[in-house]
Amino acid sequence: MSDCIFCKIISGKVPCAKVYEDQKVIAFLDIAPVNKGHVLVVPKIHTENLLDTPEPTLHALFSAIKKLAPAVQHGAEADGLNINSNNGSAAGQLVMHYHWHIIPRYSSDGLKHWPHHHYEDDMTAWQKKITDNIR
Ligand code: 5GP
Ligand code: ZN
Repeated sequence: MSDCIFCKIISGKVPCAKVYEDQKVIAFLDIAPVNKGHVLVVPKIHTENLLDTPEPTLHALFSAIKKLAPAVQHGAEADGLNINSNNGSAAGQLVMHYHWHIIPRYSSDGLKHWPHHHYEDDMTAWQKKITDNIR
């Protein structure tokens, strides 16, 4: 996609601090890291999110994540990692080229996660909303 920043990085038109590459995947440092060493793992084909990404590409992404996660954790001397993917602008996705974040985390970094809610008597209904839509 010509106006996609990650496609430009993949084609070499825009530079990046690459940390890994294979046939289907590239990984590089996030330009605005949550913590230093924050890595983005990106498929070389342009898809938008998990829903439109073919399974062989998902397998390649997870294989790369499995390789990179210990490298980020040890290299950054982190206490833990957030490994996540924002799917859709409502979920905070800014770059509409599918990708995963590997974020080094420290017990002392003070970052907080989103709040939790509670089910009332509707947990079974919500369970059904999901199971009815598994294809
Ligand atoms: P999202 O919110 O879409 O899940 O995350 C996109 C990430 O891409 C952000 O963390 C942002 O800092 C990173 N990013 C955006 N543009 C560039 C870029 O040109 N180079 C690099 N290395 N990272 C970028
Ligand atoms: Zn793209």
